[in-house]
Amino acid sequence: MKARYLDPWKINADLHSHSHRSDGVFAPAQVAQRAHQQGVELWSLTDHDELSGLAEAKSQAQRLGMRFVAGVEVSVTWANQTIHILGLNIDPDNQDLVTGLIQTRSGRTDRAREMSDGLASVGIKNAFEGALRFVRNPHLISRTHFARYLVESGRCSNTSEVFHRYLTEGKPGFVPHRWASLQDAVKWIRAAGGEAVVAHPARYGFNDTESWAFFSEFAEAGGTAVEIVTSNHNRDQVQHYSKVAQQFGLRGSRGSDFHSTEEPHIELGQVAALPDSVVPVWSDWIDE
Ligand code: AMP
Ligand code: MN
Ligand code: MN
Ligand code: MN
Repeated sequence: MKARYLDPWKINADLHSHSHRSDGVFAPAQVAQRAHQQGVELWSLTDHDELSGLAEAKSQAQRLGMRFVAGVEVSVTWANQTIHILGLNIDPDNQDLVTGLIQTRSGRTDRAREMSDGLASVGIKNAFEGALRFVRNPHLISRTHFARYLVESGRCSNTSEVFHRYLTEGKPGFVPHRWASLQDAVKWIRAAGGEAVVAHPARYGFNDTESWAFFSEFAEAGGTAVEIVTSNHNRDQVQHYSKVAQQFGLRGSRGSDFHSTEEPHIELGQVAALPDSVVPVWSDWIDE
């Protein structure tokens, strides 16, 4: 019998979100619950460099009758810049991926201690210990945890301000870090049967030459999609990355990048629809 296909452009897909297994604030099951309440019909949990929330996310999604694909957001260093590559519809038990991610996140604690030293040099004491109070997964301390601590301690009024004043390049709490290579990240995701997707491309501030070089390398490495609709993309950027997808033969993805209800408040499932000109990366995943 021929399978009946849903219209992929009409489904509310949110394929980018975080739990407290990385730098989100909610447990995986709570994120599932919230996604479902917000009308998400196809959901992925994509914690940074981390797979440990996926089993809980999947079983809660199943309980709620919501479609789910396993995901991850891999930190990559390309041309001295940090780039995020989503792996979607992955097998979380794949050994290449599991080992690659262990390696990717292994430097985080030393980096955090150095960040803390940098902050101490401008009079902010014990930031490492402070940030740790916001960490739920000891393998995954991130800049976001420092940001929450600096807001809590009254240094700044919100996390964006913390990033701007303390945690970005050239600022006292910034520590350059080498993450996975683009080729390795895509290779691990492919080995795990997943699609590699460029997360929030507008955030990298590429000029035309860099953009061309990056997307060429990404496609050459086996990457297959780009996140076109996401919380920090405006309408022009959505149009722009739709064209980029067409130029490089990539599919498109959609995701809120939800972390919490505060930072800034981007709700699950509430970003715009993917334009008709792009093929959704999830087209093949939703047959009934
Ligand atoms: P890390 O992986 O430790 O470098 O932390 C990166 C995370 O910091 C991102 O995934 C975001 O959640 C958060 N982040 C980065 N830049 C900003 C910003 N300007 N404002 C708020 N959060 C940010
Ligand atoms: Mn994050
Ligand atoms: Mn990201
Ligand atoms: Mn993210």
